[in-house]
Amino acid sequence: MADRAAFLVHLAETLRGIEAEGLMKRERQISGPQGAHVEMEGRRMLNLCANNYLGLADDARLIAAAKAAMDADGYGMASVRFICGTETSHRRLEARLAEFLGMEDSILFAACFDANGGVFEPLLGPEDAVISDSLNHASIIDGIRLCKARRFRYANADMDDLEAQLRAARDGGARFILIATDGVFSMDGYLAKLPEIRALADAYGAMVLVDDCHATGFMGPQGRGTPAHFGVSVDLLTGTLGKALGGALGGYVAGPQVVIDLLRQRARPYLFSNALPPAVVGAALAALDIVEGADDLRAQLFDNARYWRAGLEAAGFRLLPGAHPIVPVMVDEAPLAQAMARELAQRGVHVAGFFFPVVPRGKARIRTQMNAALTRDDLDFALEAFAGTGRAVGVLA
Ligand SMILES: *Cc1c(COP(=O)(O)O)cnc(C)c1O
Repeated sequence: MADRAAFLVHLAETLRGIEAEGLMKRERQISGPQGAHVEMEGRRMLNLCANNYLGLADDARLIAAAKAAMDADGYGMASVRFICGTETSHRRLEARLAEFLGMEDSILFAACFDANGGVFEPLLGPEDAVISDSLNHASIIDGIRLCKARRFRYANADMDDLEAQLRAARDGGARFILIATDGVFSMDGYLAKLPEIRALADAYGAMVLVDDCHATGFMGPQGRGTPAHFGVSVDLLTGTLGKALGGALGGYVAGPQVVIDLLRQRARPYLFSNALPPAVVGAALAALDIVEGADDLRAQLFDNARYWRAGLEAAGFRLLPGAHPIVPVMVDEAPLAQAMARELAQRGVHVAGFFFPVVPRGKARIRTQMNAALTRDDLDFALEAFAGTGRAVGVLA
């Protein structure tokens, strides 16, 4: 029986291994608000890696709404929802989200991680099957692990494989089948093939759940997400308040009334975790009003994305294709991604290198993200920094 000291030595060795492989993540500290520019360790930096797609994270209207909600309803709820933690504003936000997303109702969670962690287990039993895209977010993977349904997995966006898994689930006698996919795959910026997925689901009598964290607020008409972008309907949506909708925190599931009603009875992260604070709820309500009418911000966002992609490609960088504001610059090796992020920081641009375990080994990248608050000058500055960095670290000839 090894002792506590040996256990701590073992953990320290694991950390040393992470460091030796070039996989150690270091957190840079921001002072002041999140935005297109941030003050980071005493320096003003251009920030190209927030999920702040519409630039609302420091929006004065959201701050005012959060303050007003705190003045009206206080700071904390000190309760889960079902004991004494439900404010009228919680129900208002749930109804508002449902209306925005075209669903019957929605239910709030502390984060989308919790929404995905809690949505599968109450809905599906051992007689059922869940079919998951191989690149789905970690929280979907964990949520599926926590449910007793039979698990099937298909290669990312591979519709032949999805059909093979649907057939296997059906031939295996599954009672209900649920396909789960990210609406946008966050490491690549690729969109799920929702029209094809919907058609296959209909052919096999399956349902579709879409996690639309990297789409809600800016993809599709009025920012209603990838189903609206493609003009298809899905059965369940999960999403976050922590990205385009102001960037604070909070998640939700939206769908048919009975699904939401059952989740309220059975979803463990909902039952056993605190209610969202009034400030977040109040600001989220304001964010939805802003977002619905923010065609100007969405136009700016996608204009920035087009300009940024074109500039990087002209400089000779290797990108993953697409039109989404997630623009991954591929460098393959983790140490190179680290070196590039360090060099860009020297030049006043904050980006994050992404490498194992958040992307597969050998597919390291700098994941850049556009937002509506970035100006043409900001992007020109960043393009120059990228070109200089690319040459300095040997990514560009
Ligand atoms: C960010 C993200 C989550 C987690 O959302 P939180 O609200 O931050 O927990 C879940 N799924 C996807 C696809 C995401 O991108």
